[in-house]
Amino acid sequence: MIDKLDVIVIGGGPAGCAAAIGLNKLGYRVVLCDQAKFPRDKVCGEFISPAADPLLSRLGVLDRIEALSPKRLKGVAISSYEGEELKIDYPRLPEMALRPTSLSVPRYALDSILIEQVKRVGVEVREQSKITEFLFDEGNVAGVRGWDGNKTSFVLHAPLVIDAGGRNSLSLRKFGLKKQSKGKEKIAMAAHWQGAKIADDYCYMHVSHPGYTGISSVGEGRSNVVLVVNRSSMKGEKPEKFYLDTVLKNRLRQKLLENAECMESVRAVESLGFSVKPVPCGGLLLVGDAMGFIDPFTGEGIYLSLRSSEIAVEVADQALKKTDLSLAALKAYEVKRKKEFDKKFLLSRILQKLIYNPFLCDRVVNSLRGNKDLSETLVGVIGDLTPAETVVSFRFLLQLMGAYSQGISVAKLVRGRA
Ligand SMILES: Cc1cc2nc3c(=O)[nH]c(=O)nc-3n(C[C@H](O)[C@H](O)[C@H](O)COP(=O)(O)OP(=O)(O)OC[C@H]3O[C@@H](n4cnc5c(N)ncnc54)[C@H](O)[C@@H]3O)c2cc1C
Repeated sequence: MIDKLDVIVIGGGPAGCAAAIGLNKLGYRVVLCDQAKFPRDKVCGEFISPAADPLLSRLGVLDRIEALSPKRLKGVAISSYEGEELKIDYPRLPEMALRPTSLSVPRYALDSILIEQVKRVGVEVREQSKITEFLFDEGNVAGVRGWDGNKTSFVLHAPLVIDAGGRNSLSLRKFGLKKQSKGKEKIAMAAHWQGAKIADDYCYMHVSHPGYTGISSVGEGRSNVVLVVNRSSMKGEKPEKFYLDTVLKNRLRQKLLENAECMESVRAVESLGFSVKPVPCGGLLLVGDAMGFIDPFTGEGIYLSLRSSEIAVEVADQALKKTDLSLAALKAYEVKRKKEFDKKFLLSRILQKLIYNPFLCDRVVNSLRGNKDLSETLVGVIGDLTPAETVVSFRFLLQLMGAYSQGISVAKLVRGRA
C-alpha cells in the first residue's frame, strides 16, 4: 500500500486503465479501484476505431493484443432497410504506408490485457472495491470512501480523483451531472454467435425496423451481434426472444447467420446517449463514458475513452506539478476535450437521426454509393482517422443527404418529402 497518493482512479475499463498507466509513466503514485473482479465482460460492439492503434501502443498493450492474432476489419458495410450492402474501406491517409484496419477484439480479452498492464507497470489495483463517496477538502474532492470485497470500509486520500466509472459513474449520480438525450429510450442487446458466414472483414451495420445491428467477426469463428432498438418496440417482450426474432427478421442478417448459433444468453443494456454537465468542484476529472456517451452506431467509445484519458493525463500533470487542483486549473481538460470531440459528437448525433428515417437513410447510403471520396471521408471521420472539425460542415452534411448538388432544401429533406 502506497503511503501518499497523487491520484485515485475509479474504474478499470479502457478509460481508467489509460489514465492510470499514463500517470504512472509520469512518476505519479496511483491507485485504481474497480468494483468488479477481473476478468470481467462488458456489452459492446467490440469494434475499435483504427485510430486507437497508436494509443494502445503508447499504453504498451498493442503487441499483446496482436499476439492474440485478432480480427482486423477493413471498414464498414452498411445497408439501409434491407437494401444492398455498401462496403466502405477506411481511407489511406497521405502519411500511411497501408490502408488502416480496425481491431475487433472481445472486451473480455481487451479489458484483461489493459488491467494486467496497469498491474505490470506497478499501479496498485484494488479489485472488488466499490467507491461510494467522495471526500472533500475546502470544497474540492480530496479522496474517496468505499467497500472492499470483504465488506470492509476503506478511505483513500489524494489531491486528484479521476472518475472512469462508465455510464453510471459515481460523479454522475452524486453531482446529478447526467443530461439524458432527448428522444426515445433505447436498449442494446448483444450476444456472440458461432459459425456466421462473414465472407469479408467489415463491420456490418444493418439498419432496418425497429433499429439497427452491428455484426463483426471477433475471431475463432465467433461474431458479435449487437441489436439497438427503441425500448417501446419490444412491447414488453423478453430480451432473449425479441433479440433472436428481430435479428433474424432482416434478410441480409438471415444470410450471414443462417448456419450460425447464438452461443450465450443475450445481455441487455440501456443505451440512450447522454451528455454531462461540467464538474462543479476541483480535485475531480471525468474520463471515458463518464464524460458523456453517444449511441454506439458509430462505434467509437473505446477510442474516445482512451483519448479522453490522454488529455486528462496532460492536464493532471500540469495541475499536479503546480499543486493547483482547483476547478479553474482543471478547466483546461474540458476545453481541450470539447475542442477535439464536439464536432464528432455532432456528426454522430446527426447520423443517428438520419438512420431512423428510412427515406433519409436511403438517401445517405445512395449518396455514399455514388461518391467514393465522400464515403471514405465519412468512414475516416467515424474511424477517428480524420479530425471531424476539418470536414464536418453544413456543406458536408448536405452532400451526405444527396442535396448539395440538387439544391434541395434541408427542411424538405428532414420532413422526408424532397
Ligand atoms: C451496446 C453498446 C455497443 C458498443 N459498441 C462499441 C463498439 O463497437 N466500439 C467502441 O469503441 N465502443 C463501443 N461501445 C462503447 C464502449 O463500450 C464504451 O465507450 C467503453 O466501454 C467506455 O469505457 P470506460 O472505461 O469509460 O467505461 P467501462 O468500460 O464501462 O468501465 C467502467 C468501470 O468502472 C467500474 N466502476 C463503475 N463504478 C464504480 C465504482 N463506484 N467503484 C468502483 N468501480 C466502479 C466498472 O466496474 C467498470 O469496470 C458500445 C457501448 C454499448 C452500450
